[in-house]
Amino acid sequence: MPPGAKESIQQIKLDHELHTCPDCGYTDGFHVSFKKVKSSKKCHVVLICPQCHARYQTEWKASLDNEVLKLNGRT
Ligand SMILES: [Zn+2]
Repeated sequence: MPPGAKESIQQIKLDHELHTCPDCGYTDGFHVSFKKVKSSKKCHVVLICPQCHARYQTEWKASLDNEVLKLNGRT
């Protein structure tokens, strides 16, 4: 975790458009990371503010299905 990173993950919801950090007001969007859901092939999408490093858990899930694994295996 980079210096200044916040450990707690806050919940965030998409209203109309989501590009502003509620913590620091940064307006140019977020980094995206993924957090695996235990005993599932899905993962939560976690947004990270590039400026203040606040982490936001969304309600969106990404699927780690076989298609993704096949695509990753191609060269
Ligand atoms: Zn921020």
